[in-house]
Amino acid sequence: MTTTTKYIFVTGGVTSSLGKGIIAASLAKLLQAQGYRTTIQKLDPYINVDPGTLNPYEHGECYVTDDGAETDLDLGHYERFLNVPTSQANNVTTGRIYQSVIEKERRGEFLGKTVQVIPHITDEIKNRVQILGNSGDYDIVITEIGGTVGDIESLPYVEAVRQLKWDLGEHNAIVIHLTLVPFLSAAGELKTKPTQHSVKTLMESGVMADILVCRTEHELPSDLRRKLALFCNVREEAIIQSIDASTIYDVPNLMLEQGLDKVVLKKLDLQSDTPDLTQWNEFLSRHKNPKGEVTIGLIGKYVELQDSYKSILEAFIHAGAANEVKVNVESVHSEYLNDENIKLKLSHLDGILVAPGFGERGIEGKIEAVKFVREQNIPFLGICLGMQMAVIEYSRNILGLTDANSTEMEESTNNPVIDLMEAQKSVTHKGGTMRLGAWDCKLEQDSIAAKVYDTDKIEERHRHRYEFNSDYREQIEAAGMKATGINPETGLVEIVEIPTHPWFVGVQYHPEYKSTVANPHPLFVAFVKAALKYSKAKNNVSMA
Ligand code: GLN
Repeated sequence: MTTTTKYIFVTGGVTSSLGKGIIAASLAKLLQAQGYRTTIQKLDPYINVDPGTLNPYEHGECYVTDDGAETDLDLGHYERFLNVPTSQANNVTTGRIYQSVIEKERRGEFLGKTVQVIPHITDEIKNRVQILGNSGDYDIVITEIGGTVGDIESLPYVEAVRQLKWDLGEHNAIVIHLTLVPFLSAAGELKTKPTQHSVKTLMESGVMADILVCRTEHELPSDLRRKLALFCNVREEAIIQSIDASTIYDVPNLMLEQGLDKVVLKKLDLQSDTPDLTQWNEFLSRHKNPKGEVTIGLIGKYVELQDSYKSILEAFIHAGAANEVKVNVESVHSEYLNDENIKLKLSHLDGILVAPGFGERGIEGKIEAVKFVREQNIPFLGICLGMQMAVIEYSRNILGLTDANSTEMEESTNNPVIDLMEAQKSVTHKGGTMRLGAWDCKLEQDSIAAKVYDTDKIEERHRHRYEFNSDYREQIEAAGMKATGINPETGLVEIVEIPTHPWFVGVQYHPEYKSTVANPHPLFVAFVKAALKYSKAKNNVSMA
């Protein structure tokens, strides 16, 4: 195939939230499906070193990679579309760029020179872009630049793109600019002016867009495409419409229909073929033609925002397709759950997932939810904080340790069934210091986990500071809750189950990060299956 890596930059104009990540992932899918080894990288222009310290309200979910990087949620889309793991190199922020330039300066590596945005910051950006290309693992690297052109904080990135396009030469680097073509209902017209201005802003920094992807709510007529081509210095075939889709998983096909992959490959002087989307389309057809449905309750405290539990919601889509059912996810705010309203709020659900999270707010509602599902035999999946809540509930209501708690919520509790991990006790900094990334886990024979994974050794991604306190393991196991997954090196409990319950599983790790279209996560698949079984049994009883 190719000898040199080709680079595609994706910039955004007019507004944020146009779906650059989905366009990048969809294009990557089309290129991958033609045999090109493709990866995607996200450059974020904010000063946080990573999004790990950002509130989910502020930035949506923090996605975690195998190598323990806390990253932007777009990396989740990249993995879900491509089924190839990403790493720290796939997400770089301004904070990280400055941090490494300042560290170099402190080491004296700039030999007395004044350290400046150009060339030092732009050089660092260029290096970070080329790390993936230079690894030899990829034919094509797609780099998505966060933010909108014209923002002050995006300037060094756009300048780095200008330099790289020049350094790499024609056919080796191209720019796709994603813009908005709004529809003014009063005028009954689609408007091109915002796109013209945004392309002009890009040109002021010396960057010409090679391809325009136009987000629109209506089909772009050919006269409008001609107008855009004329004003924006782009060929008509390179004006691609990105119309609102009912699911993000339709976007690769929509881009294929518009010929995005063909134009890209032509501009990069690479051969184009028909992408093989057989497996992808099989998934889509299962997703769109469900034979039944289940309703799962997602008990969390960031439920107002779709993005806060992005990977969980997507994992349900994959698991739904695998089971050929529609999974309705009903968000339930844990802060407003109590023993009086719990039956009303949860009894119609076919399965309940208690979500990950941090801090005290809403945890008593989560504990009530676990009690309800345990007593009512409703399928339960607890993730990270959700698993910890299951252990607390069991200790309080079955072991009779009424004051059992996590030291995260109550430092001086008499029964710290969830406690700070030993390695965390000396940690003072918040950023990048949790137990992060992929860790081994050994599964207990005959457990639900061992059956679901169909193996006895797994690797899953973590992001937490607290753990199941092993001092209580004997007591808890004697009462009936079993530790069925253990980290072989540290002995940390990674999975708990209640064998007398039809389907009760709590995991200290985040299975949702590893669910992809090609590989729906086995735990989610099995959980949805259990919910389906529960729902069928419930309906049979009510019909009898
Ligand atoms: N707050 C808990 C901990 O740090 C759980 C974290 C999570 O749910 N990701 O251990």
